[in-house]
Amino acid sequence: MQSFTVHVLEQRGLNSPVVQSALSLINQINGPVTFRYHEWTMPHVEHALAIQKQPDRVKGRKRFAEKWGGVLNRSMACLVNEGEIRDQKETLILPDPYSWVSEASEDLKRRLKHTADDFYRATGADRTHSMVVIITNVNNEHNYFAVPDLFGQQWGFVQCNHQVTHLMAAPHLPVAYELLAMPIRHFAFGDLQSFLSHLHVDESIGCMNDFYGNLSEMERKLKSADICNQCIERIKEVGVPYALLRQTRDGFEKIRLYQQNLANLLHEFEMPRLELGYHLKVTNTGGLIQLAPKELAVYAFFTEFRTGVPLTHVPDHIDRLRYWYRRYYTGTMDDPQSLERTVERLALNEDQDLSQTISKLNKKIKIAMANLGDATPYLIAGPNGGAKKIIAAGNNLVSLSISDS
Ligand SMILES: [Zn+2]
Repeated sequence: MQSFTVHVLEQRGLNSPVVQSALSLINQINGPVTFRYHEWTMPHVEHALAIQKQPDRVKGRKRFAEKWGGVLNRSMACLVNEGEIRDQKETLILPDPYSWVSEASEDLKRRLKHTADDFYRATGADRTHSMVVIITNVNNEHNYFAVPDLFGQQWGFVQCNHQVTHLMAAPHLPVAYELLAMPIRHFAFGDLQSFLSHLHVDESIGCMNDFYGNLSEMERKLKSADICNQCIERIKEVGVPYALLRQTRDGFEKIRLYQQNLANLLHEFEMPRLELGYHLKVTNTGGLIQLAPKELAVYAFFTEFRTGVPLTHVPDHIDRLRYWYRRYYTGTMDDPQSLERTVERLALNEDQDLSQTISKLNKKIKIAMANLGDATPYLIAGPNGGAKKIIAAGNNLVSLSISDS
C-alpha cells in the first residue's frame, strides 16, 4: 500500500498530555499509516455559545447518599468520606477543563476546512495521500466526540477534552482509538452516504463504527477492539489493504489491553506502576505524565535513593543530580556553565528551587493519577527536615527504564 499520513494538528501552545499520550501509544504500532503531530496556529472559535449546565459526574457517592438520604452506617460513611476526598482531588484535576462553550456545526466545519486548507498550502504536503485530524477543545452543538473526513476534503476532528473523556480514568485511550480509526474510516466510510449506512447509533455493539446513543457506552468498543461483520464487508468491498486493517486492529488490541489494566486498577486488583524513561509513564495505561527536564531529573534522583534523603543532604550527592539533569537536559550544550549553575541552584535549594520543583512535579503526578488510585506513595514526600522519598520506588512500583550510563 502506498504510504498514508495522518497529520494531527493541535492549537499552538496547548500540547495536551492526553494527545501526547494517545500519539505515543499509536506510534508503537507498525503499519503503512504514519501519524505526525503538528502544533498549528488556527483561527479562534467565534460565535461560541456558553453552556449553562455542568454535566453530572457519573458516580458521585456523596450525591447519591444525599439524594437517597437514610442513615449511613459506619462503613457506608467511610465510603462517602472517601468519595469526598476524591471530590477534592477532582477539583484539583481538569488540566484540560471541560469546554464551557459550544460551537455551531457550520462554524466548526468552516473553521476546520480553513485550517486544513491552510495546512496543505503552508506545508505543501501531499493532500491525496494524507489527511488532517484537527484536535479541538471546544464543544460542538451536537456533542460529537470525533467526526471522520466525510466531505472528501481530507479533514476530520477529535475533541480532546470532550465530556466522554472525563468519564474515563485514562482519557487518552478514547482519543487514541478515534485517531487510529480515522484512516480506515477515510478509505471505507469516507462519504456521508456510506458512513451513515454503517453507523451504529441506536445501540453500541462494540464496533469501530459505534457512535453511541449514549456516549458513556464508549467503553464498549474500547473493550471489544472489534469491527463487526457488516463493517468488515464494506472494508473488503472497497479494497482496504490488509496492512492497514492489521495496523488498526493491532492498535485497537493495545487499547483494549490498557483498558483492561485500567479496570484492574480501578478494582484495586493491581497498583499503578510508573516507569521513568524519557517521560514519566503510567505503565498500566500508557498515560504520560509530562514533566520538565528539571523535574524528571529530580524524580530520577529520588527514585535512586529508596530509603530517602533529606533536602539538606542533596549537595552531598550533586554528582547524581548532575548526571540525571544532563540525561534530561534538552537545550544545547554550548554553555556548560549555565547547566552547572542550574544543577547547583537545585542541589543547594537556592530560592527554594528544589522544594518548588518537587512541589510542581508532585502536583502533576497527583493530577495524572487523580482517577487511578492513591497518588501519595508516588510523590516525593517526607517529614519537614527529614528524609524525602518515593515510597513506591522502595516497593518497585516506580522504576527507571533508561540505562545508567
Ligand atoms: Zn460495524
